[in-house]
Amino acid sequence: MSVRTGREFLSIPGPTNIPDSVLSAMHQPAIDIYEKDFPPLTDSLLTDLKRLFKTAGKTFIYIANGHGAWEAALSNVLSRGDKVLVLESGQFANGWGATGGTLGLDVEILPGSWREAVKPDAVAERLKQDTRHEIKAILMVQVDTASSVVNDVEAVGKAIRSTGHPALFMVDTIASLGTMEFSMDDWGVDVAVAAAQKGLMSPPGLSFNAASPRAMELHQKANLRTAYWDWTARMGKVHYQKYAGTPPEHLLFALRQSMNLLFEETLEAAIHRHSLLAGATAAAVSKWSEPGVLQFNITNAEERASAVTTVLFEKGYSPDPLREYCDKKCGVVVGITIGALEGQGIRIAHMGYANAPMVLGTLSVIEMGLKALNIPHGAGGTQAAIEYLASNVLP
Ligand SMILES: *Cc1c(COP(=O)(O)O)cnc(C)c1O
Repeated sequence: MSVRTGREFLSIPGPTNIPDSVLSAMHQPAIDIYEKDFPPLTDSLLTDLKRLFKTAGKTFIYIANGHGAWEAALSNVLSRGDKVLVLESGQFANGWGATGGTLGLDVEILPGSWREAVKPDAVAERLKQDTRHEIKAILMVQVDTASSVVNDVEAVGKAIRSTGHPALFMVDTIASLGTMEFSMDDWGVDVAVAAAQKGLMSPPGLSFNAASPRAMELHQKANLRTAYWDWTARMGKVHYQKYAGTPPEHLLFALRQSMNLLFEETLEAAIHRHSLLAGATAAAVSKWSEPGVLQFNITNAEERASAVTTVLFEKGYSPDPLREYCDKKCGVVVGITIGALEGQGIRIAHMGYANAPMVLGTLSVIEMGLKALNIPHGAGGTQAAIEYLASNVLP
């Protein structure tokens, strides 16, 4: 018995759902890369990335996933042996740091919890001890997609500046760009990193860097620079240089269309939509958590990201049968937990091209699975989500 046939709901935190119009935008023949329409397409994307990052700095497009953009960012501003301080709050800042380690950076992790946001005071404290300014860059993730925490980029930026420490502030916005507010210049971020396949609703394969004037200045003396990632080479006059070779035409067509969708909705409205969908999910998870078998990974509601919600299961309850039930019986694909949380819960994504029926459908199916599998949970989670949305989305 199954009620699976129908549109599958992909509710994992990346890659996310790709709108039909974005898929269609790719369905066209390859074009001459020297065609005159092509450079303006690139220019429009580079300019619109600035709108998304909220920066007057420089933007760059890479044919790479997020890991590539991480490496690009580090290699453009740092030199072998430089110390970087990684602000732990889950999987991804540490992963970025590990990339730095293989490049020859001296990586120090400021230990944090997978269940709460980075503490700005702890960052300031560590920087004050670094009187010789050995730390050259600070790496933080805005939304950690593993823990589902959101870090306060603005507050951490302020804490860094309050110490007068000159380290570059580098932020991974891969899961937050287009899903939560980010303001690169206002928040004092020197380098920002993003990718196409999370909030930006595009296929995986493109990722981005944004660089402040200070980052561009330090770029001049960075010795980790390589031909492919190099910002200066990519700023060359010839269009071909923007991609260090053949442009990823179809991915660029897709990105143009997804950015059009985002700007039509408006960035502010998209961010608000994400907070509503996250609020609905939180209402359901709060209910389900009542008997104590399920719980939020991020205990402080203010530190929960709008892009994804990580839910932990009490020991003795495996999340696998629930995920399998949702997928095999109902056509809803819920995320696994990863890293230190592997095997301990599920991740419910509400990121990118997602609306109320998709999230309510996902929540309903999870609740159906909890019931069918006799996993103790508070009844009425989906109802709570409906009530939350009904009182926040007014006629
Ligand atoms: C997905 C993700 C990454 C990794 O991106 P890939 O495209 O898989 O390399 C890095 N950081 C964050 C916050 C992410 O969500």
